[in-house]
Amino acid sequence: MTDEARKKGIEIGAGLLLYSIAWAAVSYWTVPPEGETALFLAAYAVLSLRTYWEQIKKFFHRQFLDESMLMIIATAGAFAIDRHKEAVAAMLFYQVSKFVEELSLGRTKKSIAEFIDIRPEYANLKVGNSEKIVPPQQLELRQVIILRPGEKIPVDSVVTAGSGTVDMKALTGESEPRAVRIGDRLYSGCINLNGVLEARVVRLYNDSAAARVMRLVENANEKKSQSVHFADKFTKYYTPIVILIALLTVILPPMMFAESKAEWIYRGLVLLAAACPCGLMVSIPLAFLGGIGAASKQGVLIKGGAFLEDLTEVDTFVFDKTGTLTEGVFHVRDIVPWKMEKEELLEMAALAESYSNHPIAMSLQEAYGRDADLTRVTDIEEQPGCGVQAKVDGRDVCVGNTRLMNRHGIFYQAVPDAGTVVYIAVDGQYAGYILISDIIRKDAAKLIRWLHKKDLAAVMLTGDNEQTAEEVASKLRIESVYSELMPEDKVSLLEEFRDNQMEGEKLAFVGDGINDAPVLTLADIGIAMGGLGADAALEAADIILMEDEPSGIIKAIRIAKATLRSVKQNMIFAIGMKVLLIILAFFGFVTMQNAIIADMAVMLINILNSFWMMQYPERGV
Ligand code: ADP
Ligand code: MG
Repeated sequence: MTDEARKKGIEIGAGLLLYSIAWAAVSYWTVPPEGETALFLAAYAVLSLRTYWEQIKKFFHRQFLDESMLMIIATAGAFAIDRHKEAVAAMLFYQVSKFVEELSLGRTKKSIAEFIDIRPEYANLKVGNSEKIVPPQQLELRQVIILRPGEKIPVDSVVTAGSGTVDMKALTGESEPRAVRIGDRLYSGCINLNGVLEARVVRLYNDSAAARVMRLVENANEKKSQSVHFADKFTKYYTPIVILIALLTVILPPMMFAESKAEWIYRGLVLLAAACPCGLMVSIPLAFLGGIGAASKQGVLIKGGAFLEDLTEVDTFVFDKTGTLTEGVFHVRDIVPWKMEKEELLEMAALAESYSNHPIAMSLQEAYGRDADLTRVTDIEEQPGCGVQAKVDGRDVCVGNTRLMNRHGIFYQAVPDAGTVVYIAVDGQYAGYILISDIIRKDAAKLIRWLHKKDLAAVMLTGDNEQTAEEVASKLRIESVYSELMPEDKVSLLEEFRDNQMEGEKLAFVGDGINDAPVLTLADIGIAMGGLGADAALEAADIILMEDEPSGIIKAIRIAKATLRSVKQNMIFAIGMKVLLIILAFFGFVTMQNAIIADMAVMLINILNSFWMMQYPERGV
């Protein structure tokens, strides 16, 4: 329970007690009128002093015309016209509904965190030949830990002995367990299913997957969505208007129809209480939190309610090719050396790439198959969008595309094959090329088909050559393709797309976070795939698909739509009920406390709707 909720709870308890005493006193004894006023005033004071004080503080910030103000005027007014019991009851129920609001917001945040409570509790640290149980926070880099079946992986680590399978569900939503063996990466928060593993710590607890993901989710709702802004603006105009209507209610009817003044003053006050929009205020953030929770359960992390809302307005999805639409795992298809052995060419390339984490570099190292002797490599310089240059055994080696070769003035023969061609030059002389190719991700086609069906545009950007780009695009049926782009070209293209956008249209960029972080930030919504791999992606993106599956975007859009629908439902219901209550108040059909109770019921129904949303996000979408 939050501090605020606890204070409210005490306030309500004490108020209720004093209220009952006052009631008992007036029912069983004959109390003089001053005594009665005093008794109810005491209950009223306990219930409302803090609200009054807050309001005075708000007065100096010029934003005091809100729901509390309505309640204060209504109840103080009721007190003034000697409707003590009603004033106290209305204040009491108002505080109860504030209390429920506080509780449910806290509860939702907590249940989102619990949903994905993936924090590991302990680690088995290997010390010599024995082991010691330590809190995961104490683990240091390069220490070795032991993982038994059923245990949660405490920190990101690399398997050094044993093999088995891990359950990644908590982190990625993927239900199929993943097989791991020596050299594979383990992520904290996953569960070791079978086999005893030894692993070397490669990340401290706080930098490990579980801690980072939890941090993301916990900070999620900070960015306000447009709906919340709308609600803020709404109260700004709503409150003064309601006060005006109440004033007119008090003044006009008695003037025009010679009716009883007292009755209309009372109706005006009830109208104020009936208009208090507290159920409305809480229902919007609640629905968004529900959506964020539902998404994280499915391996889609959303950094704020605003992005859920934006996602429903996206009409163009711009994809990076390598690592996003394709697996980014290249396989060497052909090695064609010029005046040297195949092995030597591959070795040169793999060594020069030994510090790069580009998918191409990874595949060359994989094909090389041995651990690179890092002492042989110096002066490495990676040129994004082109390749790398380095000194291997003191010789100048360039590994990259035609752009890199041209830049170094190297004479080479362009290779017409489809596939990614990696050219290699040694000491300024062309030394051959390695032909590699990538596989299109299994469900990329499914995603593009789905986008087409929904009339959403798909665009592909890539730094790769035109042939490869065209091949991938035609297989996936993507019509607009831009190839041979430098990372900065991607940025300027995206800026151009944004300039050409129409009002209200949004653009999403989907990348893997490897050298496309700037574009992720620039787009209206940056969606990163494989949140576990690239750190930059976690930082730069707004939405993160934990699993390397493009079709996660379909899930995200569906959840976003469902969330927005539940926001709308909550809003329409709350506003409709408000209008109804105001009309009833005007004609004198409700009492002040009944108006507040009705408002509370609206809020409870909205809360249930949002919880329902969190459990079954895809109903009917
Ligand atoms: P994409 O847009 O497809 O993600 P990148 O911008 O990462 O591609 O790279 C564009 C091109 O630059 C690659 O297709 C490759 O030809 C070349 N390149 C980039 N980095 C490297 C590297 N480390 N080794 C070899 N070639 C590279
Ligand atoms: Mg890329």
